[in-house]
Amino acid sequence: PCTDFDKAYFNSYAHLGIHEEMIKDRVRTDTYKAAIMQHQTYIAGKVVVDVGCGTGILSIFCAQAGAKRVYAVDASDIAVQAGEVVKANNLSDTIIVLHGRVEDVQIDEEVDVIISEWMGYMLLYESMLGSVIYARDRWLKPGGLILPSNATLYLAPVTHPDRYNDSIDFWRNVYGIDMSAMLPLAKQCAFEEPSVETIAGENVLTWPHVVKHMDCYTVTTHELESVSTRYRFKSMMRAPLHGFAFWFDVEFNGPTVSPSSNVTATFPESSSNDHPIDYCQRKKRPNPNEALVLSTAPEDPPTHWQQTLIYFYEPIPLEQDQLIEGSVTLSQSKENARFMNIHLEYTSGGRSFVKESVMR
Ligand code: SAH
Repeated sequence: PCTDFDKAYFNSYAHLGIHEEMIKDRVRTDTYKAAIMQHQTYIAGKVVVDVGCGTGILSIFCAQAGAKRVYAVDASDIAVQAGEVVKANNLSDTIIVLHGRVEDVQIDEEVDVIISEWMGYMLLYESMLGSVIYARDRWLKPGGLILPSNATLYLAPVTHPDRYNDSIDFWRNVYGIDMSAMLPLAKQCAFEEPSVETIAGENVLTWPHVVKHMDCYTVTTHELESVSTRYRFKSMMRAPLHGFAFWFDVEFNGPTVSPSSNVTATFPESSSNDHPIDYCQRKKRPNPNEALVLSTAPEDPPTHWQQTLIYFYEPIPLEQDQLIEGSVTLSQSKENARFMNIHLEYTSGGRSFVKESVMR
């Protein structure tokens, strides 16, 4: 059923600004375009469904790649403009815009290709992958193509003294006035909720941990309801630990690689730093097709997703090689399925902490 939360969500996509931001994110849009062109042999003469077409840009790329028919589906009113764009580009014979939820529209044939830009902040926020899974299970032919084909969410400890100074230490001396009384409120306002911001590779204290690796051909909605993992980091530096950063990447593999490949099999879901799946090596993991990767990592060119940070109220001083251990659980909020609860436990230097936050 379409809830009030869904209505608010789809209304937010009726505003052009959000689409403008996504389209102007060249890392995102160019990678999708390159992936579509790279998979032209799977797309030319075939039937495609674009799950959440927005302005229709990915549908048009698929038409340019020679698709026979593209179902461009969006529940937001932006679908009205998408239809006009399609008409103005003389693509009405190829692209059929369906204004409705993927879960509600009717498509009377099986499809060869699913394309979707479903990734939210820290990958899983907004839970749109469920709609891609729905489309896959309902319409995709066996052996069909899904772009992107897999996705990985990472977690790493970070130091960010500038940010902490800016938001917190600032209150210690304001025009010569001691405003330390603001500190508790400043910490709460700045760090109670996850923060979407761009950090640099230098802020990251060690190799990231894989929170979740998903193969889009096989992932189930059940798996996404709650994602839990234990991590173990060894700081490579002596520095104050200010919190944790999440980021993700997605890959664009052909269908022969993804469903039964050794990519997922040799790519462990969790890692510790004593085992070699790490920051550098993750780029060198088996990639038989030289698959295109859309990365939102701090060391890669920035995207509109930035990184998502969970800050602590107090920094923890870390020695080099100090261990940080704990667990993280990401789960759908009961209050609103599009919100995400983040439960983070960490132990370092013999002290344990728990941080609960909600991404709204
Ligand atoms: N494909 C476009 C837009 C991506 S944003 C681009 O790449 O620029 C995601 C879009 O998916 C939004 O426009 C949103 O309204 C739509 N969407 C999300 N869930 C949906 C669902 N269940 N059914 C239909 N559209 C959905």
